[in-house]
Amino acid sequence: MKRPLSKPFTPYYRGRFAPSPSGPLHYGSLVTAVASYLQARCNRGLWQLRIEDIDPPREQKGAVRDILSSLRAFGFDWDGSVLYQSHRLAYYRHIAEQLHKHHLAFYCECSRKQLMKSPETRLGRLYEGKCRKLGLPSLTGHTLRMRVDKEHIKFNDGVFGVQSYDLLTDSGDYIVYRGDQLPSYTLAVSLDDLQQGYTELVRGADLLHLSARQLHLMQQFNRQLPQLLHIPIITDANGQKLSKQHYATALDTRHSSFLLYCALKDLGQEPPKYLCYRSINYIWNWAYSHWRVSSIAPEMSIKQGF
Ligand SMILES: [Zn+2]
Repeated sequence: MKRPLSKPFTPYYRGRFAPSPSGPLHYGSLVTAVASYLQARCNRGLWQLRIEDIDPPREQKGAVRDILSSLRAFGFDWDGSVLYQSHRLAYYRHIAEQLHKHHLAFYCECSRKQLMKSPETRLGRLYEGKCRKLGLPSLTGHTLRMRVDKEHIKFNDGVFGVQSYDLLTDSGDYIVYRGDQLPSYTLAVSLDDLQQGYTELVRGADLLHLSARQLHLMQQFNRQLPQLLHIPIITDANGQKLSKQHYATALDTRHSSFLLYCALKDLGQEPPKYLCYRSINYIWNWAYSHWRVSSIAPEMSIKQGF
């Protein structure tokens, strides 16, 4: 397809942190922010913030303000202005239409209920391809799916090493635009990451399984693909992921030094205990000179260390 992305690729390191405003910053997202920030700063690169606010029912009033003020309290310093996905809905829609126009995607009328009955779905395939040849129009209620053929997606993750996926059986014809007229997570983040020219995406290992479809989608635009680096997600004592959906506790910025120390520890950096009692600036300076990606455990999850 014609390249709709106009910003030139930049050859130096560009990274980002992309929270959703479904609640205040919690410890799990702090760990991700620390890892992506250190990767960017230790590579003398840019670090940007993106607010993933395209799912209004899950948003919490005041969450953006809380997240930004927590990040400031922890000493994060982002480059440029904050990006809001909600400002880009027309762009996502335009690209979705282009994907359809170039026959890379097709509209699907199958309901979730119908899909659950399908033998293919029961075998682990997400979509059986029923609507592929129907030529359905864009209508509310119709989802737009990428046409996926047998294809292997392989990449070398910065922590987990070589990853290989069979796109057809791992992902099937994945959704890029939803029936309720909103872009899918895959479409929005892939377009943003490409357009901003991020050279590496640092994020939680719970997103590892989505990498294949995101790389597949990005490949359609003939642009330099970012490197991927997944870090273990943080769980509570019961093994449950810390997330806003599970009411993870908001960070108490009065204990920012201790929490930053814990984040470095959970990232395998072995910070000396005395850092707990030092200023945020002191801890960041220690982290800049000791940061080693190779020390991060290639585990899907680790239990919160405090
Ligand atoms: Zn269908």
